[in-house]
Amino acid sequence: MTPATDVVVVGAGLAGLAAARRLVDAGAEVMVLEARDRVGGRTLTMPAADGIPIDHGGQWIGPTQDRIAALAERVGVTTYPTYERGLNTEFRDGRARRYGGDVLDGEDPLSAVETGQAIRELETMAAAVPLEAPWTAPEALAWDSQTVETWVQARVPSERVRNWLREIVRGTLAAEARDVSLLHALFFLRSAGGMALLLGTGGGAQERRFHQGAQAVSIRVAESLGERVVLGAPAEVVRHGEAGVVVEAAGRTVAAGRAIVAMPPAVAGRIGYRPAMPGWRNQLTQRMPMGSVIKVHAIYEEPFWREEGLSGFAVSDSGPVTVVYDDCPEEGSPGVLVGFIKGEQARIWARRDQADRRAGILACLVDLFGVRAGDPRELLERSWADDEYSGGCYTGYFPTGVWASFGQALREPVGRLHWAGTDTATVWTSYMDGAVRSGERAADEVLAAS
Ligand SMILES: Cc1cc2nc3c(=O)[nH]c(=O)nc-3n(C[C@H](O)[C@H](O)[C@H](O)COP(=O)(O)OP(=O)(O)OC[C@H]3O[C@@H](n4cnc5c(N)ncnc54)[C@H](O)[C@@H]3O)c2cc1C
Repeated sequence: MTPATDVVVVGAGLAGLAAARRLVDAGAEVMVLEARDRVGGRTLTMPAADGIPIDHGGQWIGPTQDRIAALAERVGVTTYPTYERGLNTEFRDGRARRYGGDVLDGEDPLSAVETGQAIRELETMAAAVPLEAPWTAPEALAWDSQTVETWVQARVPSERVRNWLREIVRGTLAAEARDVSLLHALFFLRSAGGMALLLGTGGGAQERRFHQGAQAVSIRVAESLGERVVLGAPAEVVRHGEAGVVVEAAGRTVAAGRAIVAMPPAVAGRIGYRPAMPGWRNQLTQRMPMGSVIKVHAIYEEPFWREEGLSGFAVSDSGPVTVVYDDCPEEGSPGVLVGFIKGEQARIWARRDQADRRAGILACLVDLFGVRAGDPRELLERSWADDEYSGGCYTGYFPTGVWASFGQALREPVGRLHWAGTDTATVWTSYMDGAVRSGERAADEVLAAS
């Protein structure tokens, strides 16, 4: 039998669930099909050996991320501040240095001035990028014809500041500066509201964590939707036409008035559409690759770095883990460090065998925090490129030329098919907040069209 519903949502990450929640609130009949045997997509919280929740995917939220905050509050998921007392650590040229404030202040004032200039220049350019239509920026074509790396080499003299900017691209997009269109980086920067919001712990995107883990938001929203959410139902074929939509998912067939496909464009492009997608959409989904990231957690009896006056925040120029944060539960025990292997390093280290990789990770933690860091009671790692239904993380990004030629296809509905997912968001794109916003926007589109 073919159940008929108003809207079928494909994908039960934050975007799909936020869309479904808004539609149900508005009185619509909704069905959500999720490929995996769990909800939450790029958020995934699993207990460590002692039961504390570990976020293997998205975890932090910060100021101006109002839509994820509102959704979390609605379902009773609470937050606490990221620990940031004490000195930060920089491992560079084979040596660990402790510093307060920003990495380039004090010891290297010339680099600090150059960094300030680069940030001002990037933010001024970003202010000229319309969030709804980056390809209409006055200099869109020039900016979309170069990578961030090209710009860095042309505009930034110091190799140290260049490396810092490259690391920002890795840190925020899990890609190399050479991979990413300058126009996309400017759009991304504006979408977050500027560099301070993007990079900050207190006052920025890394400000708070969820006590219950980030996936709890999706789990509780899904619970509130009850039997409308179907797990283990990968959409294989979406038939669409003037009369409606029929989704075929692992032997299940769902007919609906409209569909919201809520996942990264690269993953949406693997579904079969009948009739096929128009060329502009088909070619967009071929051109928006996912970032490369391995997320690492090292768990210790206690956060020994705190006793030594360290915040747990660290950056390393050698890697493989190039940035680390204190990730302890609010009560401060056990000690947890979270680190990221990103971009090219993620591509290289994902292919090494596990023992090699673990040795590389631990050696890096020892460089940063001393010998005690080399002996965690648990070491957890997750490479998102291996994940069939994510294809990489944190997000899909735009290489050169894609915004200019295909940007309009990102959100434009195709008949009765609508597109959601953080990768389609205009505000906080690539973040959980962007995911929620994109789902709510797609739900509004459907409601307006019905
Ligand atoms: C390591 C890592 C760290 C991150 N850190 C942060 C952070 O600190 N803060 C932050 O805000 N964000 C962070 N993010 C990003 C954040 O997790 C994502 O922006 C957000 O979860 C995306 O939600 P979404 O609903 O748009 O997409 P997804 O979560 O990808 O949801 C898409 C869903 O569609 C499903 N699906 C795919 N194909 C099909 C199909 N054919 N049929 C049915 N279902 C299908 C998938 O299984 C998935 O559940 C991080 C992500 C990662 C991986």
